[in-house]
Amino acid sequence: MNVSTGLQKSLLDWFSKNQRDLPWRHTYNPYQVWISEIMLQQTQMDRVAIFFLRWMKEFPDLQTLAKSSEDRVLKCWEGLGYYSRARNILKAAKLILTKHQGQIPDSRKLLLVLPGIGPYTAGAIASISFNRNVPVVDANIERIFARLFNIELRQKTPAAKKLNWQKAEELLPVGEARNFNQALMELGALICRPKNPDCTACPLSSHCLALQYGIIQERPVPQKGQKTIPIEMATGLLLHDGLIFIQQRLENDVWGSLWEFPGGRLEKGEKPEQTVVREFLEETEFKVQVESKITTTVHHYTRYKVTLHCFLVSLYQADPDPVLHAAQEFHWISFESLQNYAFPAGHRKLISYLEESGLFSHKPPGKPD
Ligand code: SF4
Repeated sequence: MNVSTGLQKSLLDWFSKNQRDLPWRHTYNPYQVWISEIMLQQTQMDRVAIFFLRWMKEFPDLQTLAKSSEDRVLKCWEGLGYYSRARNILKAAKLILTKHQGQIPDSRKLLLVLPGIGPYTAGAIASISFNRNVPVVDANIERIFARLFNIELRQKTPAAKKLNWQKAEELLPVGEARNFNQALMELGALICRPKNPDCTACPLSSHCLALQYGIIQERPVPQKGQKTIPIEMATGLLLHDGLIFIQQRLENDVWGSLWEFPGGRLEKGEKPEQTVVREFLEETEFKVQVESKITTTVHHYTRYKVTLHCFLVSLYQADPDPVLHAAQEFHWISFESLQNYAFPAGHRKLISYLEESGLFSHKPPGKPD
């Protein structure tokens, strides 16, 4: 038995005994594998399992999804973040329906043409759903390879990416792609974790160069440090005749097509209260005044730490019709109806705060006390 064969066998044996029971592993239906793989990008497994089941209840198959509105899809995605993923899923579903007779393609090449599907997701769908001999490389696998093969290149550099894909291709046992690719991902999630890998339980320990050299803590070689960038923003909950003003962001904007309360970044020397008044005027031509501070939420988004100052504001003009400059649509809605719209995380936190604080409960919508 050569080294690769021994490694493949050890890993496949381990996977057959230790794989987790995940909802999308029951049938390997390509639609379910696709949705789970997109959800798993940037989101923890536990959360994905909950969102996945909710999604399948709402959109049980590709045909149902392809005929759904973007609003409904975004609402179902709310809380997972990175909303372009949901918009791309919908675009891809429509394309699959029209160009592939509703059947998800089994070839990596055809999958790569679809919106939101890159080399990793194409490899995952082709191998996990159809058992095609296609490798995958994700962050878990990059970490395993960096340790297993003692890769001294900085993660995410073009040279490291190229080497990882080459290794994944070389290691893949023909006819076993479904289990082998999943086994690598599972090993990265359960054993070869970013911190404190459990080398004593690892099926690959006898092959691992970083373990042999005692340099596990130094692999993978980290990327150059990225600093967190703090951002301060302010937003206003505008109440008029017991209704709340919300607007829908432009499609190609950050958080495109999601709903929000108007607001924006603080300018130099500006107080949050002043930002809200200015932003309302710029975005909607509404003249508003600040009534009171509601709360401050903090939200982490990629490298950014967003502090959002939230205020209750009122109109001091008679006309409740805005002129939209930063949105595609607006609604005046009741507090209870906020649940029917998809908001970015910071604004959803504000809504949760209002619900928990009871400011709007037990009385008709109006100004909180
Ligand atoms: S022996 Fe340890 S470091 Fe090496 S692959 Fe296994 S868990 Fe990762």
